[in-house]
Amino acid sequence: MKRALVCGAGGFIAHHLVRRLKAEGYWVRGVDIKRPEFGPTEADDFQRLDLRESANCEAALEGGFDEVYQLAADMGGMGFIHSAECEIMRNSALINIHMIDAAAKAKVPRYFFSSSVCIYRDMQPGEPEMTEEQAYPAQPDNEYGWEKLYAERIAMAYGRKFDMAIRIARFQNCYGPEGTWKGGREKAPAALCRKIAEANDGGEIEVWGDGSAVRSYTYVDDMTDGIYRLTQSDLEGAVNIGCPEYVTVDELARTIAELAGKGIIIKHIDGPVGVQSRNFSNARIESIGWQSQFPLRKGIEKTYPWICSQVQRASGG
Ligand code: NAD
Repeated sequence: MKRALVCGAGGFIAHHLVRRLKAEGYWVRGVDIKRPEFGPTEADDFQRLDLRESANCEAALEGGFDEVYQLAADMGGMGFIHSAECEIMRNSALINIHMIDAAAKAKVPRYFFSSSVCIYRDMQPGEPEMTEEQAYPAQPDNEYGWEKLYAERIAMAYGRKFDMAIRIARFQNCYGPEGTWKGGREKAPAALCRKIAEANDGGEIEVWGDGSAVRSYTYVDDMTDGIYRLTQSDLEGAVNIGCPEYVTVDELARTIAELAGKGIIIKHIDGPVGVQSRNFSNARIESIGWQSQFPLRKGIEKTYPWICSQVQRASGG
């Protein structure tokens, strides 16, 4: 039985990844500074450890592992990314430095790292797709992106020195059930689902910016499928993973409202928006058989009812 260590397993994507690895027949240890918020983990073993400490990274690896999936990070949506630059650059860098070092010392043969399309520069609507190597010359829009770029590089440097297979995915925005939906760290799809769940039919919701920023939103099952396939593959270097459907923030809000069966008025207000546009090639991840199975509507159909139930529960409904 293969053994996998999943770092950040108390968080959204890694919680789902544990489920996927269990379905593939792995023995899984999850590790995080906190337990999963929305239901029990399926990991065989779960340890609460602060991975900013090197001794804790070493402890997490005790027993030996075939694969490490490193998804732990101090992260959140645009509001958090803009208000917590120092925390992100310190905490996530410490995790990434100590975890790759501990994995090399423990002779882990295969190491996955979760990077982000935030490492790319801003784009204009209509620009042709960018490929992975076009990340350089680098000009990320925020410090979160710079930390990810550094973490990609340290992982690859250790891979070269210690004969460790390094697999790196650059995720587009990911959404789905059991993700943070309130509190300031939630991302746009969850925040808009919450606002629409809370609004009356015909009511108003606030949207940061002018609503024209273009994004792709990837349903979490597509993301975990990409992570798993990539880690098993021979693909070296960074690999984009994202749904090929691009929409504006207003289109995202209108899709959610339609599926919620509500007429909604969008009020644009000042707020952190991030880059204007994105458009990335999926050719590398598709070359190993990955295909997005969840267009936006299909993913929102699964996500909105879950957030709606959370909103109702929180309001005692
Ligand atoms: P998340 O915040 O739900 O999960 C991250 C987990 O890391 C959390 O459970 C958190 O408690 C844990 N963590 C933070 N500091 C820690 C520490 N010191 N020790 C141990 N654990 C610690 O985020 P997510 O959305 O599941 O993202 C997972 C990974 O994917 C992150 O690296 C993130 O940067 C990356 N990513 C996510 C998205 C997205 O849209 N969700 C997009 C691009 C990249």
